[in-house]
Amino acid sequence: MKKTTATERKPAQISFAQKRMRNLIKVINGASLRLLGLSDPENSRLGKLARKLPRPRKSAKGPDGLKRSKGLKSKYIDLSQFNLDPFIERKMVTRSFRIFGRIISGVIKSRRDYRKELASPSRPPKPAPREFWNEVIARAESLGIGLVGFAPVDENLIFTSDFVGKMDRLYANGIVLGMEMDFTAIDSAPGPEAGLEAMRIYAELGVATNRLADFIRSRGYRAIACHPLGGPILYPAMAVRAGLGEMGRSGLLITKRYGPRQRLSLVSTDASPLPETAPPKLGISEYCDQCRKCVSACPAGAVLKEPGVKENGIITRIDQDKCIGYFYEAMGCSICLKVCPFHQRGYDRVIKTRKNSPIESTTTKKK
Ligand code: SF4
Ligand code: SF4
Repeated sequence: MKKTTATERKPAQISFAQKRMRNLIKVINGASLRLLGLSDPENSRLGKLARKLPRPRKSAKGPDGLKRSKGLKSKYIDLSQFNLDPFIERKMVTRSFRIFGRIISGVIKSRRDYRKELASPSRPPKPAPREFWNEVIARAESLGIGLVGFAPVDENLIFTSDFVGKMDRLYANGIVLGMEMDFTAIDSAPGPEAGLEAMRIYAELGVATNRLADFIRSRGYRAIACHPLGGPILYPAMAVRAGLGEMGRSGLLITKRYGPRQRLSLVSTDASPLPETAPPKLGISEYCDQCRKCVSACPAGAVLKEPGVKENGIITRIDQDKCIGYFYEAMGCSICLKVCPFHQRGYDRVIKTRKNSPIESTTTKKK
């Protein structure tokens, strides 16, 4: 079957009023994204203003014990490249603006708090008892965060550039957080409903991550909230270390609770020791070896038949250069997510249909 590429799709017919609305949205969207550092700032006054947004001074050393990147490069995603026409057709403008406003305020808060953290003097770390971690889990759940796991921050997973958060240092420990995306919206991918749902969860998880970091600071520990949009560290790999799930062939984290249907963020903290985490045995890679639906469904041929290893030792499952064009054109695409049986039927039902499948032992327990 011939695959349809984004560029082959018929352009949508829109009215004169809709064209005017689209131009207005493009201006506002472009301005917002430049402020976030998510579109090319060259030759732009707003781009220059973006560079003046709160960020650490080059000379700011920060408190003792901060971890830095060992050279992992991140992919720059220019969100201004998204095709906005489907939003106008479906009159989703107001909802989009509300969501983007919430993303922007969340990013600005996390940048500001990060700068304060780096400006604060060193102090001896305060031991974290089990009750504290139970409080953190309870607080996260009350904020709508469905997945909470713990793992030490690995410097090999910190990016050299965090285009959104402008962070390059983290505390020694990580609390990895996941929030579910709506099933029906994701099931409509590719399209504006699925794209907007991803943005909605970036916004909501960003707010919740900031609030959890505030809570941790209120208990006398240090905390840096890493926004889910962009981020200073490779979240899926950290989530695997934190026992939240395993990596699927699609390069998406697969969890027992939500399959591939979550977005991730992280709070780094000096609170220590972390609660023990038992690595799950979900049997995802064994299942993927038989399934491969995402490989054949990807319109851009971007899901690799076999994972590769990058020069920095990081395993990659997606050809990002192939993915990105369709990703821009199709509002974040998400086809590889939509076709995954762990999204369609859920982990338990998928695994129960297979004989001798390993079932997850446990993730982090409340103590
Ligand atoms: S988002 Fe997934 S399905 Fe879509 S182009 Fe990228 S890899 Fe392929
Ligand atoms: S679609 Fe199939 S191969 Fe791809 S991640 Fe999901 S289970 Fe694995």
